[in-house]
Amino acid sequence: MKSDVLEELRTEVMRRRTFAIISHPDAGKTTLTEKLLLFGGAIREAGSVKARKANRHATSDWMEIEKQRGISVTSSVLQFDYKGHRVNILDTPGHQDFSEDTYRTLTAADSAVMLIDAAKGVEAQTIKLFQVCAKRGIPIFTFINKLDREGRNPFDLMEEIERVLGIRSVPMNWPIGMGRELCGVYDRMKHQVERFQGNNHDTIEVHKVDDYRDESVRSIAGDYLYEQLCQDLELLDVAGDPFDLEKVRRGELTPVFFGSAINNFGVQTFLENFLELAPAPTPRKSQNGEVEPLSPRFSGYIFKIQANMNPAHRDRIAFLRICSGRFERGMTVRHVRAGREIKLSQPQQFLAQDRDIVEKAYPGDIVGLFDPGIFRIGDSLAEKEDIVFDELPTFSPELFAKVTVKNAMKHKQYQKGIDQLTEEGTVQVFYSTSGFDETILGVVGQLQFEVFEYRMKVEYGVDIELHRMPFQFARWLVGDKIDTSKFRINSTVVRDKKDRLVALFESEYALRTAMEKNPDVTFLETAP
Ligand code: GDP
Repeated sequence: MKSDVLEELRTEVMRRRTFAIISHPDAGKTTLTEKLLLFGGAIREAGSVKARKANRHATSDWMEIEKQRGISVTSSVLQFDYKGHRVNILDTPGHQDFSEDTYRTLTAADSAVMLIDAAKGVEAQTIKLFQVCAKRGIPIFTFINKLDREGRNPFDLMEEIERVLGIRSVPMNWPIGMGRELCGVYDRMKHQVERFQGNNHDTIEVHKVDDYRDESVRSIAGDYLYEQLCQDLELLDVAGDPFDLEKVRRGELTPVFFGSAINNFGVQTFLENFLELAPAPTPRKSQNGEVEPLSPRFSGYIFKIQANMNPAHRDRIAFLRICSGRFERGMTVRHVRAGREIKLSQPQQFLAQDRDIVEKAYPGDIVGLFDPGIFRIGDSLAEKEDIVFDELPTFSPELFAKVTVKNAMKHKQYQKGIDQLTEEGTVQVFYSTSGFDETILGVVGQLQFEVFEYRMKVEYGVDIELHRMPFQFARWLVGDKIDTSKFRINSTVVRDKKDRLVALFESEYALRTAMEKNPDVTFLETAP
């Protein structure tokens, strides 16, 4: 590679930030995303993200389910430029019925934004998504939203973040009042008061001060809020964690920002701090060692496969996270698992507006590749060499169902459907070890069952019936002598697609009992 191309690669990598927003439904993710896109000029009007969601509902076909339930099953990538940075937001399904796709999408992010509703605190889905991020040790930035409403005490929220998620936090700004009394926030880093403007939120009034004790803060906030602010910040100065970028980068400390997405209050400050503190695309692990983004040869991996985004076609889109080098349209790369070269002629990127054809892309970027059925989740693509990225983790399903095919004549199509849909990661499949030919599906969200059933019918013409099973946990079993007869009480042992033994449990109690009875066996939450 020529030096000017290397220089270009360096510039492009350094200016990129690729992240996901993790939150519980209704915390305000759509609203925040929209405001971020507005700053980037990627959309012109507020409401576009929602409108686009609605539009997608109107045009998709198997996603009829989305329409019926008014939720978004699909996740896409939004890209915009802001002050020289190129920002990629990995959009993850926000409904309670989220799926493994949500988890897998997080593996493509270099950092995460944790969005919390100030009145509700840390909620169930946030915990699950946080844990996936924490396992990778990626930096997490917290935005506490809906400051314009009566919320919980900020100290309570910090305490909950630490107790429930096990991460320390450092407030970058601090609310001056809340709800109807909201006056604004005090920026602890820049030493300024940012005043909340009620109905006119386009301009934030900023007052530079020497210190929060400054008398001019009193004149802005009034006596009562001023005293309270001083008290809070004195406590934070003494007892709180100091800001430490290294700890933030290791995912041990989360910077916290307060604001109100719908009022566009605190969003820009958040964005600017985030862009400064969040990492550029980070190296990815592979069987050949760590792959550095600046390494000149192109490489990447598929983290998600999406069927039928465009109802006019029956094709699939495979989402590729670029890990190193420069991607160019029409380039020929190694499809490592298949052991052959392929030409990437139709890469598509999903911008806020529309589908665009990508000519060039860089590490941190996500491109959608046209997939005639040749990709699987976790596949590596690389220029000239055989890089094999570490397998994506298989997450423990929490819901299980036995499948029966209503028409035995359709067995061949059924098998084809099972193969393709499990490759796409729609569901996980297990087989019984009891001698009966039983297929069990495992998912993390109820919606995955519905999508599976629907697609089996519409795409493969197979009517199936799903019978829910009472299991709640799956553990991959590792050991020399595994005696499956020791897994009888409220549990069963099955095999996964790769023939590994997996035990399913009805309760935590059943799991603990089995662990006690089988001290030589290792129980893994994700596939080995
Ligand atoms: P999502 O489910 O996380 O994508 O949440 P939405 O962005 O759709 O927001 C859920 C609800 O919260 C909507 O009614 C929003 O208008 C509202 N909301 C979002 N941000 C704020 C905020 O800062 N203050 C208030 N009061 N409401 C908000």
